[in-house]
Parts: sequence; C-alpha cells; structure tokens
Amino acid sequence: MPFASAASAETPTPNRPAFDPHPAAPVRYNEMVMSWFKREESSVEGAADSEESRVRTEGLWSKCDGCRQILFKADIDANLHVCPKCGKHFKMGARERIALLLEPGYSLVDGNLESTDPLHFVDRKPYRERLVAAQRQTGLRDAIVNAVGHIGPHPVVVSAMEYSFIGGSMGAVVGETIARAIDRCLETRSALIILAASGGARMMEGVVSLMQLAKIATGLAQMDDLGLPYICVLTDPTTGGVTASFAMLGDLNIAEPGALIGFAGPRVIEQTIRQKLPEGFQRSEFLLEHGFLDAVVPRAELKAYISRALDFMR
Ligand SMILES: [Zn+2]
Repeated sequence: MPFASAASAETPTPNRPAFDPHPAAPVRYNEMVMSWFKREESSVEGAADSEESRVRTEGLWSKCDGCRQILFKADIDANLHVCPKCGKHFKMGARERIALLLEPGYSLVDGNLESTDPLHFVDRKPYRERLVAAQRQTGLRDAIVNAVGHIGPHPVVVSAMEYSFIGGSMGAVVGETIARAIDRCLETRSALIILAASGGARMMEGVVSLMQLAKIATGLAQMDDLGLPYICVLTDPTTGGVTASFAMLGDLNIAEPGALIGFAGPRVIEQTIRQKLPEGFQRSEFLLEHGFLDAVVPRAELKAYISRALDFMR
C-alpha cells in the first residue's frame, strides 16, 4: 500500500520582491497609542462601550509572552515576527521562512503528496478529518514545503516544516518530502537546508512515522559521501523524533534564539528523574553552551549566516 499519493503538479512561486531584513524605517512605538489601549483614561467617546472597543481593536494587538508588552501586530510582522522590544522569536510559517531565506525566483516543489492514513487511525476523531481540517487551515497538503533556489550564489534545496499543520508532526509525507529534497540535492549537487519546527513523529501514523527517520538518515549519509553540505536550522519548537534524528544530523546545527529543543518535554523528564531542571533547560542558548548546537543565530541574520557557511563549506 502506498503511504503517499501524487495529486497535483508542482507549483511555481509567484514573482515576489527581494526581502529586505533591514528596513529603512526602524520599528517604533507610539506610547500614546499604547496607553490608549490600556485604557488608563476613559476620555475617548464611547470608551465605556467595551464590546465595541474590543471589536475594533481585535486582531491588531498581540501580547508578547517574552516581555509581556502589548505590541502592534503589524510591527511584529514587519520585524520578521520578532518582538521589537525583547527579541523573542515568534513562530513563522514555512512559506514565509522560505521567502526570507531564498533569492527571488525560487520554486516550491514536491507539494503534491498526501497521507493515505495507512493505519485508518481514529482517536477523538478520525485522522482523516484532522488532515482535511489542517489542509484547509494551512493551504498545504502536509506539514512541509520543499523549495529549490539559491542562497547568495549557492544552489540549495530547502525543506521547511510547518508547525501549524498538526504540530509539524512527521508522518510518511514529511519523510518522503525530505527524502525527495535529498534526491534533488544528490542530482543537482545542491546543499540541503532543513528548517525544523516539529512536535516529533506523527502518532496517527505509528511505526510508519518512525520508518521515516531511517529513510532520511540514509539519504543524508549519501549526501555526506558526496561532500554535499547539510545545514539544519532548529526553530521553536523542535522536539521528539525530529530532534532525535535528522534535526541533529547537520554538518551545521544552528538554532534561532530561545527555541525549545529537546526529545521529551521538561515535565516528563522532571517526573522521571525526580529533580528540578536547571533554568533555560532545552532552550537554544543552554544547548549551545552544552555542545549540542553550533550556533544560535537571530532570524534577521540567518540568511547571511547560511550564505557565509556555504562559502566555507563548498
Ligand atoms: Zn517581547
């Protein structure tokens, strides 16, 4: 039985302007607007009508869980989904990440695979229904997007995981899509960049998920034989079977600041070893300090960093 089926042709990317990580106008905050939002005074006409105020401001503001400041969402978006006050890196979609890294003119590929629900799995609701809901919500067929393009002068294939698709979990489609990215690298002698964002293996595909680890690791070994670089970027969060396999197999394993990276969750570990875990445990900086990562790179510098690394590795 096939675990994945082809359904549509490859999608070319629309032409989009080059991303400028250093916009001319710095992101600034209007203190008056902030105090208006906090409603310290109710001089605004109709401010008593909280229902109406809420409707008007809904979706415009967001509270940073790093510094607890209320931020204008457009400012966060303009700052690559990084808090302009404290530098907290928020989650980012796979397609946006690809647009951030690659030069204009790249193509999205391998987006035609779909899970066949090999175990006919049902928990609180059928896995098939979960898939349909996630597909509708994200516009993707599964939790990964492959792209072919360049970073600087270097030809690369990027596999970006999509956390909002069932927690970026890795089933047969994610595994096969990464395997195809590796095949493209082998054919075209390109470097592979995986942007990891995942809760781990996809439970609803059971052992089929775990089989992906061996398949990907085998492909990575073939790349290694040919001396083709593989860089893994671990983003918030990268956990479970993904951390335990390809996310830690890069020639370079780099992470975004403050990303949760680990195998089991901290609560499970605390309950198992019956000890309190140290501050910042399973965060990028802690892992860097303890030798699990090669670097922690802010999002705005990611592209330049990878480009320089490829200069060195090629
Ligand atoms: Zn913040």
